[in-house]
Amino acid sequence: MASGGPVEHGYPHLEIVRASITALYRRLSYDTIHTFDTSVAPVDVAFHDTDDLHLGAQRVARELVRHYRLPDARLIVGFREMTHAANVELAAGPEYFVELNDRFRTHRRDIGAALAHEVTHVYLHRLGLSFPGVRDNEVLTDTAATYLGAGWLLLDAYREDGASSQKLGYLTPEEFGYVLAKRARVFGEDPSVWFTSAQAYTAYTRGRARARRDEEQPPLSAAGWAGRRRYARDRRRAREPRAGGVERGVPYVFSAEGVPGAGGGGGAGAGARGGGGAGSGSGGLRVSFPCPTCHQRIRVPVRGRVRARCGLCRTVLECDT
Ligand SMILES: [Zn+2]
Ligand SMILES: [Zn+2]
Repeated sequence: MASGGPVEHGYPHLEIVRASITALYRRLSYDTIHTFDTSVAPVDVAFHDTDDLHLGAQRVARELVRHYRLPDARLIVGFREMTHAANVELAAGPEYFVELNDRFRTHRRDIGAALAHEVTHVYLHRLGLSFPGVRDNEVLTDTAATYLGAGWLLLDAYREDGASSQKLGYLTPEEFGYVLAKRARVFGEDPSVWFTSAQAYTAYTRGRARARRDEEQPPLSAAGWAGRRRYARDRRRAREPRAGGVERGVPYVFSAEGVPGAGGGGGAGAGARGGGGAGSGSGGLRVSFPCPTCHQRIRVPVRGRVRARCGLCRTVLECDT
């Protein structure tokens, strides 16, 4: 896990973050994701300066191992001088050696955050879930940690004041906030009460606003007026190809019915029921768009109001196609 350097902001990893959430649902299934309905509790990973360093680190590591239900996994935590914040050796197990940067000896309250990232590596390693490329795989790790209830610790370790800054993990603070808000939405959690860092809380509220925007994209019924207008114009163009192609930069893709593969990824697992309209009265046009919860692409017929259920995360989506 990296640390140090100026803190990057915004959403530079958003596409990989979304792909990570989809990959988690595909690998774990809806049912397993929903066994993570309770986040790591602040009290269970609290680390006081009066706690013994090694015993305390082992205790927090055990708590995280328990969170991920890795009953036989044993983490051996050591400290040494190193460039990175932390590192874990991903061997066959059941023992895993985690090294923490020496500076955690005097920054004990962030040991839980560092271990949250490293234990997530172990969990994903055991699942055989990884992304090619170090950077993408680290984004997957932070996203998984956050979506499964341990990663809020990483966001809370982000602190900035005039003199210094600290941030752990590979996501920006806003991206952590984005994933945390997605999790909160699914599990009805309110993570805002856990933050000890004011900057982390602000990043959470920004990420939450960004996450809400995903739920307000056409053809979802919650889309705003401007989005709906643009969608209607694009739909008109899709029906009359000579009118000029659909604008780029929108999340939806129109395709003619019966053209498999067209429209960017298909709606595998998506079931749609028409809520109105008669048959395929729109010349067999279909629209695909990302599920706002798991980001798998859903495909529905273009025929007014349609209710679709995402086959992957089971979210019911009210659409106005
Ligand atoms: Zn890592
Ligand atoms: Zn979904």
